[in-house]
Amino acid sequence: MRRARSHFAGRLEFGNECDFVMHRGRSLDVVVSAEILRARWSRLVEPERYGVASVVAEMIDAFCEPDLALPDVYELLVAAIAAIAAAPKPQALLPRFSLRFLEMLGLAPPLTTCVQCGLALGTGPVWLDAQAGGIVDAACRERWRDLPELEEGDLQNLRALAEPKGGANAAAVQATLRAAAAVEELVAHHLGRRPKAMAALGALGA
Ligand SMILES: [Zn+2]
Repeated sequence: MRRARSHFAGRLEFGNECDFVMHRGRSLDVVVSAEILRARWSRLVEPERYGVASVVAEMIDAFCEPDLALPDVYELLVAAIAAIAAAPKPQALLPRFSLRFLEMLGLAPPLTTCVQCGLALGTGPVWLDAQAGGIVDAACRERWRDLPELEEGDLQNLRALAEPKGGANAAAVQATLRAAAAVEELVAHHLGRRPKAMAALGALGA
């Protein structure tokens, strides 16, 4: 394996998209050859980009099974890494990536209805209930819990961010502070913890 590592060292850089030929081993598969399709490393080496790409990689690693092919998630990952490698403010890409990813996993929060009672969310204040996996209205809000409040603008922002590929300029939508925090809470709830790479990103003060 040490020898193989030296063979493939440059090709296995973080963020590179590679085409592998693998030999299926008894316990571990062996890399027979690796060809770089897209090399992103030189642009991801910048601290904030590296931090954001690490969060993306950690989330995909944590939520996905190693041997289960998920083509739409793969496509999302490739698009996210490309966008991060080119972004002046890469952290701004995380809320949309996270919402799209949760959607693909079947974990997306309903954004037009209360997650508890199923009634349509009106224009009044609503609250994020990450434990319930979504947003609750005034009737279902458990007042003794200090749930973060979302305003109408935040809700509209979340809907715009969650638009599928090809949606109206969703990639250009900037998350509001409360919407971004809500997405982080939902990811932490489904993951059972905050992504470790988020701490490193926070330490950059970006
Ligand atoms: Zn309700």
